[in-house]
Order: sequence, then C-alpha cells, then structure tokens
Amino acid sequence: MFKRSDIERAHQYEGGISRRWFMAYAGALSSLPLLERSSWAVTSPSFSSDPFTLGVASGDPDHHSLVLWTRLAPEPLDPHGGMKAEPVQVTWEIASDETMKSIVVSGKSIATPQLGHSVHVEVEGLKPDRWYWYRFRAGDATSPIGRTRTFPAPDAMPDKLKFAVTSCQNYEQGLYTAYEQMANDDLDLVCHLGDYIYEYEAGRNGKVRTHHGKEIQSLGDYRIRHAQYRSDPLLHGMHAKCPWIVTWDDHELDNNCAGDISEEKDKVHPVDFLIRRANAYQAYYEAMPLRRSCLPRGSDMTLYRTASFGQLAEFLVLDTRQYRSDQPNNDRASPLNVSALDKTQSMLGRQQKNWLSSKLIQSQANWNILAQQVMMGMVGFVRTENEPVYSMDQWPGYAAERMELMQFLSERSISNPIVLTGDIHSSWVNELRIDDRQFEQKLVATEFVATSLSSGGNGLEKPKSLESVLSNNPCVKYHNGERGYIRCTVTPKTWKSDYMVVDDVLQPGGKTFERSSFVVESGNPTVHPA
Ligand code: FE
Ligand code: CA
Repeated sequence: MFKRSDIERAHQYEGGISRRWFMAYAGALSSLPLLERSSWAVTSPSFSSDPFTLGVASGDPDHHSLVLWTRLAPEPLDPHGGMKAEPVQVTWEIASDETMKSIVVSGKSIATPQLGHSVHVEVEGLKPDRWYWYRFRAGDATSPIGRTRTFPAPDAMPDKLKFAVTSCQNYEQGLYTAYEQMANDDLDLVCHLGDYIYEYEAGRNGKVRTHHGKEIQSLGDYRIRHAQYRSDPLLHGMHAKCPWIVTWDDHELDNNCAGDISEEKDKVHPVDFLIRRANAYQAYYEAMPLRRSCLPRGSDMTLYRTASFGQLAEFLVLDTRQYRSDQPNNDRASPLNVSALDKTQSMLGRQQKNWLSSKLIQSQANWNILAQQVMMGMVGFVRTENEPVYSMDQWPGYAAERMELMQFLSERSISNPIVLTGDIHSSWVNELRIDDRQFEQKLVATEFVATSLSSGGNGLEKPKSLESVLSNNPCVKYHNGERGYIRCTVTPKTWKSDYMVVDDVLQPGGKTFERSSFVVESGNPTVHPA
C-alpha cells in the first residue's frame, strides 16, 4: 500500500520522522475508502466452498443503529481469503424473529478486495431496546443467522444491562471453552478489551494448537491471523449471539508497542513500524464490526468512542496504545521514580484526553465505564528487600496522567466511575484513589480486571505472589490467576461482577463456573463480596 521510498524521502526532508509528512504520504497512497461506491460488482458469484467460514458479527449499537459484519473467505488461510480480486455483491437482511420470517429491513452491500472482502453494514432506523436477527447472502451461499440488539433510548433508564468483559485470547495457549458458557449467559453485549490476536510466529508458546506462519508483518499476514482466530466456532459463535464493542491492546500490532515505537525500538525504524501499523490496523478494521468512523487512514485509526445504554451506563472506550508516549525506565518494572512520575508521560495523548474529559462531563449515565486496556490500580510488587516496583507498560508508567484522571473524576463528581481492564492475564478487583499508595485518601473509582480467556494456558487460583500482593497493596481486594472472563450485571442501584473461570483450557470439555462475585452500590465505590 505504501511506497517506502516516498516515506523515506519525507523522512529525509524532515530529518526525523514527522507525523505531518508521514500522514500526507500515507493519505495519498492509501487506496482504502472505496466501501460501497464501486460502480460494478459481481452479483452472482460462485464459490467452490462456503464463503462464510468466519461467521457473522455485529457491534457498536446505539438506540437506532448498529453494524452488521461478515467477511467472505472460502479459504481463511489464504491472504485474499480465497477470493478473486473483484468486488462482490452481498445482500443482508434483518428480521424481528429468529427464523427470519418477519424481515424488517434488507439491502445490498459490496465486499471489495481492497478491504479483504469484508462487509460492514451500518443499519439505521431500527427501534430502540430491541433484539433483531440477521444474515447475509452472496451468490447462492447463505450465512449463519446472527442475533443482535439496539440499546435503549437516550432518555430511558433501563432496569438492567448484562454483559461480559473479555481479553487476551492467544490461540496457541488455550481453547476458547469460556465462550461456550458466555453464549448461555444471556448477555446484551460483549466488551473485548484487546489482545484479540497475538502476532507471534507459529509454535512460540504453543500448548494446544499452532499459529499459521511467521511473526506477522504484512497486510496478508495480519488478515490470515485474524481469519485463523475467527475460524474458531466458539469465537464466531459468541459473535453471533449479541453485539460486541471492541478495542485493541498491543498484540493486535506488536507486543508492548507505544505509539510509533516498536517493542524492538533499537532495531525497527519508526517508518517501518508505521507501515506495519497500517497493515495491522487495516486488518483489524476488516475483521471487526466497526463503524465507518473507525476506518483507518494510513497508519492512524480512531478507535476511542462512546456507547450509551440509555441513562444506565455510558461506555467510554479508550485506546491506550496508539497515542501513548514510550514506556519509561526502558519498560522494566521500576519504582515510581522521576521518569514514571514525569508529567509529559501520556497514555491517552492530548486529543483523546480532552475528548474523554468532555464526554465524562456530558454523560447523563448513572454508571460511567472506562473500557480500556492496562491496569490502573497502582499495584506494587515487592520482589526483594527494596522498594516495590510497578509495571511501566501499565498506568503506573504514566502515573501523573493517571492521578490527574482520578482527580478529575473526583472533583467533577463523575457518577459511579468503573474501570474495566484486560492485558494482565489475571483477575483483579482494585479500589482506586488519586494515589493508591495513600490509603487514607477517599475512594474515587472501582476497577475490575478481566483475566485472559486463553493466554497463558491454565493458571492458579492463588498465584504465588498472592499473599505479598494483598499485604503490600491495600487497594487490591481480589486477585486470581485462572482463565475466564467477567460477567457484569448492572442495575440503577448495583453493579455486580461475576468472575467466571474455566477449570481446564488445554482440552475440550472444560467446565466454566463462577469463582467469585463482587458488588458495588451506586454512590459508593467500596467493593463488597456478593
Ligand atoms: Fe495478552
Ligand atoms: Ca497486552
């Protein structure tokens, strides 16, 4: 998509990587935004095998619209999905019943080779707070039927919202058994907080199955990786059950990346890294039920956004990877020293931070949910006689901005702030203060950290560090190292988080059950066991 020579020229001219120049070139070279404007498309394609191997999905609902998604890929592990380089017409329909007898609305869309024959239909004019069923047709092939819903009207106060929080689903390290239970949880929504795929080469940490190919770099590589993950019937089965709201973390691109800085920052030039980022972001867009407003432009893609479940809950979906400054202290677990506390360190970037402040002030919701990636609790790990060390890839590496955010939530009396987090492959419940080390400060928010769905393979109910973590960090109310997800039930009066765990992700037939459950009452961020 990009000519490296053009970008290099821009780079030389500026004498250093410049966002402005890079974007100018990336914009000019990008051939993305074709969408449904193709003047022609194959209306009766024929497929040698089922083109709907990746299933169907829906996402980003509001009270009258949502996104329907599919991607035509008769051969998921082919860079082009086994499709010819031509646009193909896909028809879609939405019904008010599961047998698809009462069609409410239908239409045509074009799956273009430029977007990997993905289909993103933004359906408008639906009724608020309703369940719908949908399917696609291409040629004589018909997709499975998916189920989705709109959110309640902006002025409504719904009785209840039930949703799951999931993250970190390394395909090699565990089976997606937890999605089997989740499919029976009768959820309104799934919130995926990142590490949807992992970029690593085949066999790196293989336990139950193997990635296809080497560490992913090209657009084709990223497409294939997403397709391999999404071919899993438990994963695409869960996508077909209810709408998802997704955001990415690092592994959708590169482990522990920060902005335009690679994990291997001494070896990888920012220009090369931004080219890789453009590939990763495009494949992510193609694979997810996202709105057109998220369509990537070159190496940039706006993923932060809000979603309102009436006046009950406001989701503020953050992107803590794309705009962050480099991790301090060489990304090594460190004391909260001058570098970690440096005021110029930013996790959100200026624009997203301003956006977040104004959305929080405008919010009419009882519960304000920061759906984001890395742990906000300032959890210190005591490994020697020395002072505690903190993860620099998580919010403690950006401690000034984190404390400023907590102060903002407190001073502006933002209603019931709840932080939802992924990334760390273990479950946590944390009570958040402006500075979590100052236990006498008043509580500001509650953080629920979801463990990994599969990453890491089977874990321990009581991690080895449990006692030391709890005794050194009074803000931590719960910690568990097993695989699973969080099931949240939200009413105007209470928030309940059920920590669901799987007894074995290394072989089929694992059992998923509720390990622990915690409640927060509206108006008080103190956490109680349910
Ligand atoms: Fe992860
Ligand atoms: Ca991560």
